[in-house]
Amino acid sequence: MSKSLQAIRGMNDILPEQTPLWRYFEGTVARLLDNYGYKQIRMPIVEFTELFKRSIGEVTDIVEKEMYTFEDRNGDSLTLRPEGTAACVRAVLEHGLTGAGQPQKLWYIGPMFRHERPQKGRYRQFHQIGLEVFNLDGPDIDAELIVLTWRLWGLLGIRDAVKLELNSLGTSESRGRYKVALVEYLSAHLDKLDEDSQRRLKTNPLRVLDTKNADTQAVLVNAPKMADYLDDESRIHFEGLKARLEAADIPFVINTKLVRGLDYYSKTVFEWVTDKLGAQGTVCAGGRYDGLVEQMGGKPTTGVGFAMGIERLILLLETLEQVPEEISRQVDVYLCAFGEAAELAALALSEKIRDQLPNLRLQVNAGAGSFKSQFKKADKSGALYALILGDDELAQQVIGFKPLRGQGEQQNIAFDALAAHLATCVVQG
Ligand code: ATP
Ligand code: MG
Repeated sequence: MSKSLQAIRGMNDILPEQTPLWRYFEGTVARLLDNYGYKQIRMPIVEFTELFKRSIGEVTDIVEKEMYTFEDRNGDSLTLRPEGTAACVRAVLEHGLTGAGQPQKLWYIGPMFRHERPQKGRYRQFHQIGLEVFNLDGPDIDAELIVLTWRLWGLLGIRDAVKLELNSLGTSESRGRYKVALVEYLSAHLDKLDEDSQRRLKTNPLRVLDTKNADTQAVLVNAPKMADYLDDESRIHFEGLKARLEAADIPFVINTKLVRGLDYYSKTVFEWVTDKLGAQGTVCAGGRYDGLVEQMGGKPTTGVGFAMGIERLILLLETLEQVPEEISRQVDVYLCAFGEAAELAALALSEKIRDQLPNLRLQVNAGAGSFKSQFKKADKSGALYALILGDDELAQQVIGFKPLRGQGEQQNIAFDALAAHLATCVVQG
C-alpha cells in the first residue's frame, strides 16, 4: 500500500476484535464513576497552544518536545491535547463551574496526542480516562480517588499486579525551599550528573529526581529529601491520606523520588505501577494541583486528579488473561431464512421480536445462501441459538429453534411463542 494510505506511526486502529474489551473496560469505569458521584465532561480535542504552555509548564517534556502543534487557517497556534487536565480547568473556568467555590467531581475520556517514540504501551495517539476534583482540599478526597481506583482494579481482576507509589511535594513554598537545597547539593556534584540532568538543574531541578541515569541516581542517594522540607500543612495532609489508605486496607509504598512530569503538582502525587508490561509500567498517575487554577487566571481553587492510560490497562488485562469470556460473544441468536417468502416473513418476525425483547442480540442472515453456508455463518457468529425458517416452517407458522452450543435438541416454536421462549433461554444484558 502506498505510504499516504497508511495510518500515522504510533496512531492505532482499534479493530472490531478488540473493541469488545475496550467497551467492557470503559463501561466498567463509567459505572464505577457514576456510583461515586462523578460527572462526565467532554472537551474539544484541539485547544490554543498557549493553554498547554501556561498550565503544563514550558520546561516539561510534553511542551518542549511532545506536542502536535500547528497553525490553523486564521494563523492561530493550536495543539492536539496531550492530556486532559488543562482543557478541563479551562472549561471549568469558562463556564463558571466552580464559581462560588462549589465542589466539582468530573471525569473525561478520550484520545490524547504526544509525539513520543512508539513502543509497547507508548503511542502517539493514546487514550486516557481522567478525573478532576475541584474545591475539595482535604486528604479525604485524595483518598477517595485512590480508593476508587483500587476498587476498579478489583473489578477488573488486576489488583495483584499493581502497586501504589505515593509521595508529597508539599506546598509551593516548601517546594521552593527544597528546590534551593537540592540545587545547592546537585551543583556541588555537577560533573557527575548526566547532560539532561545538568540542563534540568537550571530549568526544572525536581525533574532530576526522575532520572534513569545510573551515575546521577548514585549522586541522588545522599541528596536532600522533600520529606524533610514539608511544611506542617502538607505533612498533616499527607498523614491524613496515609491513615485513610491504611483504614481502607490499601497497600502503598512511599517513593520519595516520585515527582511526576508536570509542573503543576503540589502535596499528594501518586502512581499505580505494574511490573507486567516492561518499561511502560505506570498505568495510572495523578496528584494534587492546588495552584493550577489560579495560575490559569481563575480564583484560588484547589484541585486533585489523575489519568489512567487505557492502552496499558487493556494490555495488562490481556497479559493477565483477565478478559471475561462472555464479552467477546456479540450475538445471542442467528436467524437463517431460506427462500424469498421465508426471508420476508423473517424480517417481519425479527422486528416484532426486537420490539418485545429490546436487549436481544439478534442477527438476521444477510445475502441468502444455502442451508450449509447459513449454518456455518450462524455458528461462526458465536450465537447460542440458530432460528431456522424455510417454506415448511412458514406454512405451519413455526420456526426451527436449534441450540448451537449443545444445550438440548432442536424443536419447532410457534411464531407467537417465540419471544417468550427466547426470554427464558437468553440472559439479556
Ligand atoms: P510516562 O512516564 O509513561 O511517560 P507520563 O507521566 O508522561 O507517563 P501522564 O501524563 O501522567 O503520563 O499520563 C497518565 C497516564 O497516561 C500514564 O500513566 C500512562 O498510563 C498513560 N500514558 C501517558 N503517555 C502515554 C503514551 N504515550 N502512550 C500510552 N499511554 C500513555
Ligand atoms: Mg511521558
